Amino acid sequence: MQDAQRMEELVRLLNHYSNAYYNEDDPEIEDYEYDALMNELKALEAKHPDLVTPASPTQHVGGVRSSAFSPVPHAVRMESLQDAFSFAELEDFAARVKEADPGLRFAVEPKIDGLSVSLEYTNGMFTRGSTRGDGDTGEDITENLRRIRSIPASIDPSIAFLEVRGEVYMPREVFLQLVAKQELNEEKVFKNPRNAAAGSLRQKDPRVTAERQLDIFCFNVQQYDGPEDLISHKQSIDYLKRLGFSTVPSCTLCTTIEEAEEEIRGIGERRYTLPFDIDGAVIKVDELTLRGSLGSTAKFPKWAIAYKYPPEEKQTTVTDIEITVGRTGVLTPTAIFEPVLVAGSVIARATLHNQDFINEKGVNIGDTITIRKAGDIIPEVVTVVSHADPAAGPFRLPDVCPSCGAPVTREEGEAAVRCTNPSCPAQLLRILIHFCSKNAMDMEGLGDSVLEQLVREDLIHTPADLYALRAPDLAALDRLGEKSAQNMLAAIDASRGNDLYRLLFAFGIRHVGEKASKLLAEHFGTLDAIMEAGRDELLEIEGFGGIMADSVVDYFRKPESRELVERLRAAGVNMESQKTTVDDRFAGKTFVLTGTLPTYKRSEAAALIEQYGGTVSGSVSKKTDYLLAGESAGSKLDKANALGVTVLSEDEFNDMIR
Ligand code: NAD
Repeated sequence: MQDAQRMEELVRLLNHYSNAYYNEDDPEIEDYEYDALMNELKALEAKHPDLVTPASPTQHVGGVRSSAFSPVPHAVRMESLQDAFSFAELEDFAARVKEADPGLRFAVEPKIDGLSVSLEYTNGMFTRGSTRGDGDTGEDITENLRRIRSIPASIDPSIAFLEVRGEVYMPREVFLQLVAKQELNEEKVFKNPRNAAAGSLRQKDPRVTAERQLDIFCFNVQQYDGPEDLISHKQSIDYLKRLGFSTVPSCTLCTTIEEAEEEIRGIGERRYTLPFDIDGAVIKVDELTLRGSLGSTAKFPKWAIAYKYPPEEKQTTVTDIEITVGRTGVLTPTAIFEPVLVAGSVIARATLHNQDFINEKGVNIGDTITIRKAGDIIPEVVTVVSHADPAAGPFRLPDVCPSCGAPVTREEGEAAVRCTNPSCPAQLLRILIHFCSKNAMDMEGLGDSVLEQLVREDLIHTPADLYALRAPDLAALDRLGEKSAQNMLAAIDASRGNDLYRLLFAFGIRHVGEKASKLLAEHFGTLDAIMEAGRDELLEIEGFGGIMADSVVDYFRKPESRELVERLRAAGVNMESQKTTVDDRFAGKTFVLTGTLPTYKRSEAAALIEQYGGTVSGSVSKKTDYLLAGESAGSKLDKANALGVTVLSEDEFNDMIR
């Protein structure tokens, strides 16, 4: 391919990947793959400077500003950093900057892999926070940033103005928990902590930010009008720390580039012991006055450079390929290999996804492979280094289900292979585990091993059978005391009263996670209405897409799903949304209760009134809208009549809430 053509293609590709990464917070390729394409483009642009276009990602800061947020113009541009992938590039950088002052010092810091933000303080109060956006204009995310505990709401009031730059990140442990929850709920899963942090900040609900336990490391004083005389970077970082900011975990001063490289090696060795992700180390000129004279390019400052660590890869041998059967019958192959230490932890297994992936890698049992962690987190097979038996070819998924022996099929357009037996015990077990799980029907005590025994003992064939379990059935299971059996029965019983959304989620309908289940329940109110709804009606729900709608229709079209619903109904399981009854028809209305009502206790009637947005008062006045009166009503009834307040019987009240 001609250079010009390749350059055009690279610009298009990189801009496409950048959009997915910065704007959708959902990267399509790994960072090192992106960096490799970028380096290829840089090399071609160096060869053909006349072919460089303004659209090239080498010419602008990645990312744009979403119109979902108010714009925040940056008084000082928020820039990117120049990348280096070798120490030779660092040495070139050092030679360049030392021309300005041979005695200058370098500050070396870890490069936190998160989302760049700007924090502004006026007269000591946090007034505004924003993202980098396109570098010139960011997005106003002040309210979300207020929910990050380590961002001080106020600082020394004698500081007239301060702008701090920092990196918001999600601690690795928090990320792993979030991913586990998203997987369980069949929600879209964040690919790495960086995208999780960005996705949690670039959304409109500050409560979501609060829940996600984000944190920040501040790495720069950008603008300052206050009592201190800040002349060096290190001094300003120490100052930020004193003001109460969480600052970069280390900022080390070095006089030579060799010392800086030593520090970078050290950070690289500690990298995987840190509880957060770093993707490199940054070298900055420490003297602040020199920064101004060194200046910036269109994209990055000339006084700093980021060294990027290569992803750690290790070789190991595949000892087995395990097949698990999921709750929708999908057969998932997992490579089991000799345990190796990669990116800070020992790993011994990695998913092989499906037959296509296995074919593409050509992997089989006994092969030597290289592995790494995608985004430094999720183990993945990179390549096969050598085959144990080159003639054997790639591993083949079985033609029959490893659990029940039924034939497997592969639907057109799908990579997955599925077991065709609806009563496959492996599928049933997965279905039950999901049905009983905390976010679904929440049956405490009914964990994997109890359910496995119930399936093995032939006591359960569908989730509806759970409701027919008796104490002796459970007590007969291995190592299960009478008390635990009673607790489990109580948990099963309590689940009958769950809100409809839990039941919907418990069904495990493909593409319908917890959030979609809530939308369905709230929109339709009853399971019957959902079962009757067609695709178009389902699509009326905001946030509901075509794939989800089709999946709901398909699920309830199946006779076995309808049978399950009927059996659950017969077992007394609630099939109505408790949320739909919450409306505010009594908003602004004041009720007073008096006398003995035929069926409601006073507290029950009061709870109903409040549920519908009304208020309950103890005495009748001109402001009272209704008196709900029962038998033996006394002076309150007289007063209400005198003031012309509407008096309701329980029946009339019931009519109002029906
Ligand atoms: P960058 O993220 O590599 O570097 C600049 C940023 O580093 C600054 O904005 C700042 O927020 C941050 N930073 C963290 N710690 C810092 C510290 N101690 N001091 C100063 N700054 C610090 O640059 P970029 O232009 O935002 O993004 C390029 C990176 O994004 C590349 O690594 C690339 O791989 C990745 N990317 C990936 C994809 C993909 O599809 N996977 C797409 C686009 C970009």
